[in-house]
Amino acid sequence: MADIKSNLPRRRYDAVIVGAGGSGMRCSLQLAEAGLNVAVLSKVFPTRSHTVAAQGGIGASLGNMSEDNWYWHMFDTVKGSDYLGDQDAIEFMCRQAPNVVYELEHFGMPFDRNADGTIYQRPFGGHTANFGEKPVQRACAAADRTGHALLHTLYQRNVRARTQFFVEWMALDLVRDQAGDVVGVVALEMETGDVMILEAKATIFATGGAGRIWAASTNAFINTGDGMGMAARAGIPLEDMEFWQFHPTGVAGAGVLITEGVRGEGGILLNDKGERFMERYAPTLKDLAPRDFVSRSMDQEIKEGRGCGPNKDHVLLKLDHLGADTILKRLPSIREIALKFANVDPIKEPIPVVPTIHYQMGGIPTNYHGQVVAPKNGNHAEVINGLYAIGECACVSVHGANRLGTNSLLDLLVFGRSAGDFIVKQNLKDQAHKDLPADAADLPLSRLARIDGSSSGERVQDVANDIRKDMQAHCGVFRKQELLEAGVKKILEHDKRRLNVHVKDKSKVFNTARIEALELDNLIETAKATIISAEARQESRGAHARDDYPERDDAKWIRHSLFYSEGNRLDYKPVTMKPLTVETFQPKKRTF
Ligand SMILES: Cc1cc2nc3c(=O)[nH]c(=O)nc-3n(C[C@H](O)[C@H](O)[C@H](O)COP(=O)(O)OP(=O)(O)OC[C@H]3O[C@@H](n4cnc5c(N)ncnc54)[C@H](O)[C@@H]3O)c2cc1C
Repeated sequence: MADIKSNLPRRRYDAVIVGAGGSGMRCSLQLAEAGLNVAVLSKVFPTRSHTVAAQGGIGASLGNMSEDNWYWHMFDTVKGSDYLGDQDAIEFMCRQAPNVVYELEHFGMPFDRNADGTIYQRPFGGHTANFGEKPVQRACAAADRTGHALLHTLYQRNVRARTQFFVEWMALDLVRDQAGDVVGVVALEMETGDVMILEAKATIFATGGAGRIWAASTNAFINTGDGMGMAARAGIPLEDMEFWQFHPTGVAGAGVLITEGVRGEGGILLNDKGERFMERYAPTLKDLAPRDFVSRSMDQEIKEGRGCGPNKDHVLLKLDHLGADTILKRLPSIREIALKFANVDPIKEPIPVVPTIHYQMGGIPTNYHGQVVAPKNGNHAEVINGLYAIGECACVSVHGANRLGTNSLLDLLVFGRSAGDFIVKQNLKDQAHKDLPADAADLPLSRLARIDGSSSGERVQDVANDIRKDMQAHCGVFRKQELLEAGVKKILEHDKRRLNVHVKDKSKVFNTARIEALELDNLIETAKATIISAEARQESRGAHARDDYPERDDAKWIRHSLFYSEGNRLDYKPVTMKPLTVETFQPKKRTF
């Protein structure tokens, strides 16, 4: 290939962040305020990133409603993770939580308030006082539009700090030099189709989740797993990708999310007999048990014939007893969603709901400074110089096998900030950019050449839809060996098919089909990592529920999966059971 360096335009920054959601913008703020030259790339306008859709709240033990502390929050998070979370990172996050929320408050975030002026907090699944004794109100909320308020607050602060945004720019691939260090990214301007190399002393992935590898998902259409795809193609493993959270309450048939905040405010789940069935499965926390637990219980009710509707395929979320005042004040968007997508007014009638894919617990392996770690010569703590990952695309791992509601927005803030702090300490201003390798852009340019060069072949959507359909059918709430094995085969076939997709329109300008073809390369990496890791893990833990292996197997499986795209190979690494300062929470049976 020709000398890429002389042919492509190049720009230099201290730091380049891919992704303008909550994690990307929290990190960029830290960097820009420290005087670094920082560029943020986003496929969409920053405030349209998926964080904007977050409804329920941010978890932090402020103790505004009743006694609470970070240690209880840590216990809940470790237990919620089904003992797969790294306890050093979990301690770090829960201790930092009040700080990052107060910081947001000072940035101007319009939280709901109590009568005494403190931040209003609502109950959420799995959050308890005194190590599981009773529910606690820990979720800091701005009505049911918390993510919207958060993202707009961060965007405005970034504008003030002069962060440079590249809006509608899509990162295609990482640039790694001979030593394996990351020296920037290659990106495409979506409007013109032009390609550019962005050189950076620090490259930060904040690309969000990949919920669009599934047919039914609460996620935005842009959540195609680009960070995971880019990492996988650059030889970086993906961690714990078998763990995907089904949110209990997606609107049946539509997938749109109904926040757990509804149950936090007192909403309850009913089967076709009108029974509040969660009382049977989780006598203490009931409807506010963690999500993996509630989703499985709902699926069980449906399987045993107690589902609602003509096809008995969903359950009902009842909230009319909360009264119109509470619904209009605390859950106004939920009412709108129910009216639009389920054609019911929740002030009068229940909302039909089913478990729906919502969140990936796994991702690009990092430590709690945001540095990407990839084993080298048996050393599992080895970092990749110049590369960081934060937010949903990263696996730090605070969520382990199952995330607690409100802990993702918290994760964005805590690790967005800590990666920022760590990078600022590297004194990047005093360092020169490393040389670009001669093959810096070979990989992305060859992908584009393949897509542009094909004159026949399948449509991108056909391959993408088949991936989604098969992931849904073979890797759902309950999984088993034969189904997973057949699923792996199908996904590997789609992996071959995607090399032969055909984009009819050959223009580069505003060509969304071309963008979707590029996204397909990322969807497939994420789907492969998910189903291959799931097939191998023969136990049930957190969100990974195996019909054929219903028990958790601590002796064998308290370990993180690592998937390598090359050769579709799996490896494993130990879970960090030792917190930073406190005693380890030892694995116990999870009851609620
Ligand atoms: C409907 C919904 C409700 C939720 N509610 C809550 C809640 O109440 N509490 C909670 O804790 N969590 C909640 N979550 C989870 C939480 O909102 C997400 O995990 C979190 O917002 C993800 O933030 P992020 O910064 O990692 O990425 P995102 O906000 O998803 O942003 C990703 C960014 O990356 C950019 N990007 C991606 N690929 C590329 C590329 N190739 N090139 C350039 N840019 C790229 C996108 O344009 C975007 O700017 C909810 C999630 C959903 C879907």
